[in-house]
Amino acid sequence: MTQPHQLNALLDTLLQQCQPLYVEGKVADYIPVLSQVEPEQVGIAVATLDGTVYSAGAATQAFSLQSVSKIFALVMAMNRIGDELWQRVNMEPSGQPFNSIVQLEWEKGIPRNPVINAGAILVSDVLVSHYSASKSAFLTFIRRLCGEEAIYADPQVYLSELEHGNRNAALAYLMKSFGNIDAEVPQVLEQYFHQCATAINCEQLARSLLFLANRGVQPHNNEQICSRRDAHRVNAILSTSGMYDQSGEFAFKVGLPAKSGVGGAIIAIVPQFGVITAWSPPLNRFGNSVVAMQLISLLADELGLSLF
Ligand code: GLN
Repeated sequence: MTQPHQLNALLDTLLQQCQPLYVEGKVADYIPVLSQVEPEQVGIAVATLDGTVYSAGAATQAFSLQSVSKIFALVMAMNRIGDELWQRVNMEPSGQPFNSIVQLEWEKGIPRNPVINAGAILVSDVLVSHYSASKSAFLTFIRRLCGEEAIYADPQVYLSELEHGNRNAALAYLMKSFGNIDAEVPQVLEQYFHQCATAINCEQLARSLLFLANRGVQPHNNEQICSRRDAHRVNAILSTSGMYDQSGEFAFKVGLPAKSGVGGAIIAIVPQFGVITAWSPPLNRFGNSVVAMQLISLLADELGLSLF
């Protein structure tokens, strides 16, 4: 196994190597505030189960969590309503862009999986309907997982999404028309945008997801965050759907459960080892960070982390 000082040096080398690729992507601008982020920034962090965090570059610079938030919300919903969730959302890859609407009409308001927008909006409905103060419950959950109170929802990102969220509103109303959303749509969207607007950095994000690499138990305090079965299920969904319409390619190249967000972050879970978070804002046409994908791909290859 690579020694700690070697891992830090490796992260530095890979970062230098991959950073120039940022010019190949484009920073998301359909949420206008996100387009103001400096495109050349890059960070990477690896949190291991023994509590060590290795990092390089802008690993303590906060970014917008965006769709990576879908993981936390999903775990909260699974914990609250159990198997009932799987009657309202499926667990299949969509083969469509993350915010696609067509499939939802054909499939009668049942989203393909909980990590495309439709599925995550449904999960937000579960949180609104089953937690008394669902927005703060979400933040409390992440803060508890990474042991830092500093994590917050960025009000500018939240408002920017709210003002430009017509497609997400359309998804929510379509599901409501099929009877698959319980709460009022504006309330559900507020919850969803609030989750996406979470500001967090690579080190915090890697640490907070360690329970998924450790059968549901958060290693720093041995707290059971979700059942072993649910940790397995989340990883399974991330493996097949977490990188949207590039999930097959990611499994083919990297072989780890992963999730991307349009803020430029990608997380990868390495069971029994730890969590990798890479961040670089410019995205490819699938909405996945170009540099973060390459960084994780090279690191997984170098350390032999693939599950397959
Ligand atoms: N908030 C974004 C949206 O709803 C999240 C999408 C993403 O990160 N892929 O479009």
